[in-house]
Amino acid sequence: METPSQAKAMLLVEPKRLRCHQLPIRPPDHGGWLAIEANGISGADVQIWKGGRADVVYPLVLGHQVVGRIASTDGSLPHEIGTRVVVEPELHCGVCSRCRLGISGCRHRRPINSYGRLPSTEPPGLWGGLAEYLYLDPSSRTHVVSDDITAELATFVHPLAAGYTWAVELPLLQSGQTVMVLGPGPRGLGCVIAAMGAGAAWVGVSGLDVDGDRLEVASRLGAKLTVNATTEDVPAAVADHLGTRPDVVVDVTSDDPEAMFTALDLVRSGGTVILASTKGNRPVHFFSDLIVQKQLTVKGALGASSAAYTWAASQIATDPRLDDLVSHQFPLEESSRALQAAAGMLGHDELISVAVTF
Ligand SMILES: [Zn+2]
Repeated sequence: METPSQAKAMLLVEPKRLRCHQLPIRPPDHGGWLAIEANGISGADVQIWKGGRADVVYPLVLGHQVVGRIASTDGSLPHEIGTRVVVEPELHCGVCSRCRLGISGCRHRRPINSYGRLPSTEPPGLWGGLAEYLYLDPSSRTHVVSDDITAELATFVHPLAAGYTWAVELPLLQSGQTVMVLGPGPRGLGCVIAAMGAGAAWVGVSGLDVDGDRLEVASRLGAKLTVNATTEDVPAAVADHLGTRPDVVVDVTSDDPEAMFTALDLVRSGGTVILASTKGNRPVHFFSDLIVQKQLTVKGALGASSAAYTWAASQIATDPRLDDLVSHQFPLEESSRALQAAAGMLGHDELISVAVTF
């Protein structure tokens, strides 16, 4: 596979303004290059595209849910040229305090050492999935994914891995336990698949009135209850159906402070709440005595573990129920429309998840 001297990239030069540029592909001193096949669009990408993240430095190449083939390597990557991999978004310097603690959010590069977040002024510039090539930093973590599935489906490894970390690993989910997922987006659906796969006895999902198609998919994937939170009282609906309170509640909503109250209210005493959604960088006031009185475990979740990626890359290739989860595809030049679609601006009918494919 010959690596060209430059790559087409959709640069986000300011909120909502994408420009097509050619960026140089320099032979790296370390690491390698990935020829991108597809990139999944996430809610976080939409947030940055809209200008809703204060820490973002423009211009940058968006996209952190990348699938591609190894195009060149200095030998530090454990793959041969042509191997198809998914790339974990996070990079790890290994020496900063967060890396040493084994938690997400390495600050070795600013504002955050992660694909789709670094400005393109940081050499070698190609740090995002909305481009033909991605620089493979030597610290990048890659997972081989089957050649037998489509590239767009392979992007779903990313939300599936997040679902595994959030609904299984962090709450230490046991077989036979019950899980309520707030939010039926790709990561919420990932939570459903992962929790069912880990032997959960019952999984429920809530969404808004625009989420009808996603809730239907959740049912198909094994959710025992789906709730329209726009018209129904979620705790009452869960109590009616389950007859008790769930062991685990995962908040995977998009920028919805109310969901946190619902989660704390809904979960059983001694249960676990996983907060996997940010609230627009705004303070949220809540009744903290509830955590004490119910003796809850509350964990913040950011990103997915490497073990979760390994599980998800295997699951995606073997579970035919997942084949239709990427509902919308756009070419690179139509990245703006892809972001609009993921934001629900092109309508919610049949919207499950969105990918840009090459
Ligand atoms: Zn670090």
